[in-house]
Amino acid sequence: KGERLRLPPWLKTEIPIGKNFNKLKNTLRDLNLHTVCEEARCPNIGECWGGGEYATATATIMVGSNTTTSDSLRSLMGDTCTRGCRFCSVKTARRPPPLDQDEPYNTAKAIAAWGLDYVVLTSVDRDDIPDGGASHFAKTVSNLKERNPQILVECLTPDFRGDLDAVAVIALSGLDVYAHNVETVRELQRHVRDPRANFDQSLSVLKHAKKVQPNVLTKTSIMLGLGESDQQIMDTLTELREAGVECLTLGQYMQPTKRHLKVEEYVTPERFAHWEKVGNEMGFIYTASGPLVRSSYKAGEFFLKNLLK
Ligand code: SF4
Ligand code: SF4
Repeated sequence: KGERLRLPPWLKTEIPIGKNFNKLKNTLRDLNLHTVCEEARCPNIGECWGGGEYATATATIMVGSNTTTSDSLRSLMGDTCTRGCRFCSVKTARRPPPLDQDEPYNTAKAIAAWGLDYVVLTSVDRDDIPDGGASHFAKTVSNLKERNPQILVECLTPDFRGDLDAVAVIALSGLDVYAHNVETVRELQRHVRDPRANFDQSLSVLKHAKKVQPNVLTKTSIMLGLGESDQQIMDTLTELREAGVECLTLGQYMQPTKRHLKVEEYVTPERFAHWEKVGNEMGFIYTASGPLVRSSYKAGEFFLKNLLK
């Protein structure tokens, strides 16, 4: 305890870069789009952007149509979150600047021009806005689908403080995959997430999205390495399955700065493979589990191939 754990060899990877990568990157620059993939220096970028049999795979968008610094993450609804989760390095403020009313239009226009097959839209939490920004988020999706009906859209949303009307606004916006992350096992919620978040509230978000729009797939993500036990992981997966959650990703928690929660354990690739097997056996239609897996990891490739043809 107290000491920082040494980075295990399986996390010291070279980032593989495919030919699509450069093509995408150049288009991005022309459109002034900024992605989480790049700004978080996500190690999966080569794979996610590599494309496989599809021209492009996924790109998680934390976008504005502006060109601000490459250091701060840009997301829908701004770069400043009203929450302060102990694993997350996004900027926090009680009252972030007001929403950019042109953002849904501009973002949709830029993404449509990008020629993606699959996109993940995500946002910060905006507890300062009455609907938590749900209608702003939904407008981005509907604008995008109007321009490009073929594109598959995944939204990774806040919990809207359990406001199920806000959840419904997004679930009915025309999206294909509704993602909301429980982040960690039930027992570690208070330790890891902002106190306004909790496991049951997040479950209710996922359940409600499926209820109001049964055609959408629901998806959640858990970080391992925060001190959770195997039994706690098992119980969490069981609860998620019982709530009808359909897709699951598990990845290694990485400490973003010294001020954030320490990594308690670097879970081995073999253990991650074990959880992937467990997820599949439990009936999740999609489980991705690995040290470098992030909630949006190769999502497009999987969904395009298997589910949403
Ligand atoms: Fe981008 Fe997510 Fe893939 Fe990382 S895992 S490259 S953030 S889509
Ligand atoms: Fe980060 Fe999301 Fe937590 Fe905000 S709510 S601090 S963006 S994890």
